[in-house]
Amino acid sequence: MPTYRRSALQFVRGQGAWLETASGDQYLDFTAGIAVNVLGHAHPKLVAALTTQAQELWHVSNLFTIKGQGVLATKLCASADFAERIFFCNSGAEAVEGTIKSMRKYHAAKGDTDRVNIITFAGAFHGRTLTTLAAGKREYGAGFGPLPEGFITCAAFDIEAVAALIDNHTAGILLEPIQGESGVREAPLAFLMALRGLCDRHNILLAFDEVQSGIGRTGKMYAYQWADSEPDIVALAKGLGGGFPLGAIMASAAVGDAMQAGSHGSTFGGNPLAMAVGTAVLDEVANPAFLLHVEKQGGYFHQQLARLLDTYPDILLAVRGRGLMLGLQIKGDLQDFIAALTREKLLSVGAGDNVVRFVPPLNITQDEIRTAITAIDAACQTLQNS
Ligand SMILES: *Cc1c(COP(=O)(O)O)cnc(C)c1O
Repeated sequence: MPTYRRSALQFVRGQGAWLETASGDQYLDFTAGIAVNVLGHAHPKLVAALTTQAQELWHVSNLFTIKGQGVLATKLCASADFAERIFFCNSGAEAVEGTIKSMRKYHAAKGDTDRVNIITFAGAFHGRTLTTLAAGKREYGAGFGPLPEGFITCAAFDIEAVAALIDNHTAGILLEPIQGESGVREAPLAFLMALRGLCDRHNILLAFDEVQSGIGRTGKMYAYQWADSEPDIVALAKGLGGGFPLGAIMASAAVGDAMQAGSHGSTFGGNPLAMAVGTAVLDEVANPAFLLHVEKQGGYFHQQLARLLDTYPDILLAVRGRGLMLGLQIKGDLQDFIAALTREKLLSVGAGDNVVRFVPPLNITQDEIRTAITAIDAACQTLQNS
């Protein structure tokens, strides 16, 4: 189905932050599969984890005990204070969908079957299943109705507006700490903290969709960790498998234990191949030196983008984001700008608000960021002259 406006570019191999076409052209990959390839392409430890596991066991049903699930679940729980239960799935939409089910089930299991509504935010993106479309911005849901009910959209990051929407039908609040798809829009840290207080006062749940912002992307394991605002439940995917399809729900014991045997499932979720790769990803990313690298390189990249903002005030409008989840808001046509970057051999991805998103591999070097800045500078120069 023609669901993507695809570029004609085709890559045959990748190494670190670089992608190569059949004719040998090298592109610097600041899309990283849309914040997926956190360790770049063909990372030796991920290749080893996958190929070693492939010789032993690919898939068994969740009817049986899968040792790798315990290993990865333990690492995930160690990476987030609130997390005590993990469910494995295959994608971001599945992780968010399971998050929504868990939020409702938590209340239902206590006999509070009225608490079914989830407060979500304008501009949100949570995936492409019918329920995650209902939770996200309405444009993507057009033509797919009827969408599931129970989602109440709030003005983005307005704590008074959230408070006014809570009633005795509210199950919880779901949001991306940084909206990716909508243009790298950060929820203020004070807002995230205020949400925790609000949820505690009303006995409702706080859920973060960290499918894009999680797994070290912002310089902490999870973006919410920049605020002192522990959630009850978090959806993960994208970076978690470093390029292998893998999603997860992290939950507190109280939320996770409401999901009794038979209440949810997945044929492929948590299979041995996925667990081997996810464990290798966590072994690299979930350590302070690696996260400090992300923070430092993100800071450098941000600062260099801000410098370009001063140089090209007629072309560039603003720099947004945190760590290596950065957005450059531009004034002209977004697709023209991305095409100009591609001609300079730099790959980027568009987002809402006329923003170019840069989500490179997290092990990117300062030299590679310099190369990217040179390419962005050259593209701005060309556009200015045209
Ligand atoms: C990408 C994304 C999703 C959907 O993930 P899929 O793996 O494409 O289903 C959900 N939420 C956020 C915040 C995302 O960035």
